Amino acid sequence: MYDVAVIGAGPAGSRVAYQLAARGYEVVVVEQKESLGEPVCCTGIISRECVTSFDIDGDVILREVNSARVFSPSGKLLSLRRAQPQAYIVDRAAFNVALARRAQAQGVDYILNSPVRGMKVGNDNIRIELASYGGELKSLEARAGVIATGFGSKLVEGLGLGRVGDFVSGAQAEVETMAVDEVEVYLGQELAPAFFAWLVPTSPQRALVGLLSRRSPGVYLRRLMSSLLAQGKIVSTEAGLSYGGIPLKPLARTYGDRLMVVGSAAGQVKPTSGGGIYYGLLCADMAADSLHQALKRDTLSAKNLANYEREWKRKLGRELKVGYWGRRFYELLSDRQIDSIFGIIKSDGIDEALLKADDLSFDWHGQVILRLIGHQALSRIFRAKKPPFPPQEKEGLII
Ligand SMILES: Cc1cc2nc3c(=O)[nH]c(=O)nc-3n(C[C@H](O)[C@H](O)[C@H](O)COP(=O)(O)OP(=O)(O)OC[C@H]3O[C@@H](n4cnc5c(N)ncnc54)[C@H](O)[C@@H]3O)c2cc1C
Repeated sequence: MYDVAVIGAGPAGSRVAYQLAARGYEVVVVEQKESLGEPVCCTGIISRECVTSFDIDGDVILREVNSARVFSPSGKLLSLRRAQPQAYIVDRAAFNVALARRAQAQGVDYILNSPVRGMKVGNDNIRIELASYGGELKSLEARAGVIATGFGSKLVEGLGLGRVGDFVSGAQAEVETMAVDEVEVYLGQELAPAFFAWLVPTSPQRALVGLLSRRSPGVYLRRLMSSLLAQGKIVSTEAGLSYGGIPLKPLARTYGDRLMVVGSAAGQVKPTSGGGIYYGLLCADMAADSLHQALKRDTLSAKNLANYEREWKRKLGRELKVGYWGRRFYELLSDRQIDSIFGIIKSDGIDEALLKADDLSFDWHGQVILRLIGHQALSRIFRAKKPPFPPQEKEGLII
């Protein structure tokens, strides 16, 4: 019997497996895909903080990002640039492989090509039922299980842990580009309802173009690609699309008897940008810490694992709440209002002030959102929209 079975070999799963194996536990990761390096529908942008904190292997980094061009619905441009790299674009498939190799080097077993169909929690163990693609059902046992199955897993719901409260859909394609050497972000409810679109150069002639949207991401992405072709930014619209979902709110409960849920499966994702790699890795470490204490004492009841949720909410809870509020507020804005906000940000020098501020960070957006709603020049638009802001979050508002 293993000490821990982790379901899902994405970043969160491989990280929690690595941390537990490094503490001497017998760990297995069960993954439905045939190989660890299969393509992932993800742009792979992670912050400098993430690269440093998790000692990300330089081999998987495609390029550095120290600037971005953000376009309003009518084409107004905000150019954001800092001297130091703020983020890195990683090859997402290679990134998954690198994290898995690190876990394997600590002795973690990987079972591939084996979708987990069910999990049964018993008094002394947890039983994982998995199927090979040949159809044969197998099972394995562990003292505890970690679900790291990404967005939309049915496993979580089946275990009575609820479902993520809200989500958005994404589509992405890899394209050939012409003279695009900065990250570009496009805003507009007509372009990507409730969210945004991007063109992210990964090499001198290649880029990822994608968007997140409340509805029909594929339709909006095809439209965007035609527009980028007409602008001479991309060479062709002939590219296959990949699709994925992103949770905007956390799962109702992220632990149970002998169980924990981490990463996108738990909704540990920035609701502002949809980025989930860094928060997933942070929570994987917190899950491993709690599980280590519980395994050591052999006290694996839900009550004893609850401190995992307390810990990750202490670190990320406020960010997720304020970020979700910001996201919902953005959703209420018309394209004209987004344009007005752009105009004010530029004319009042808010962009310059934000770039100089220490709290403008790739990963932590709550404080900037609070600053913006407190800004006098923008307050007219914010008041007009009457956003349903939770009053307790107004604490710390900087006006
Ligand atoms: C279009 C798009 C762009 C994105 N861009 C970024 C970005 O630039 N930066 C960023 O930080 N985040 C980005 N994200 C989000 C990011 O991809 C996720 O937050 C991240 O992959 C979550 O990691 P994870 O380990 O929790 O889950 P995943 O990476 O989804 O891994 C889950 C793994 O579990 C496996 N699995 C699922 N069910 C089972 C089962 N029943 N049995 C066995 N295995 C199973 C899956 O095959 C998968 O390998 C993007 C998402 C989308 C959709």
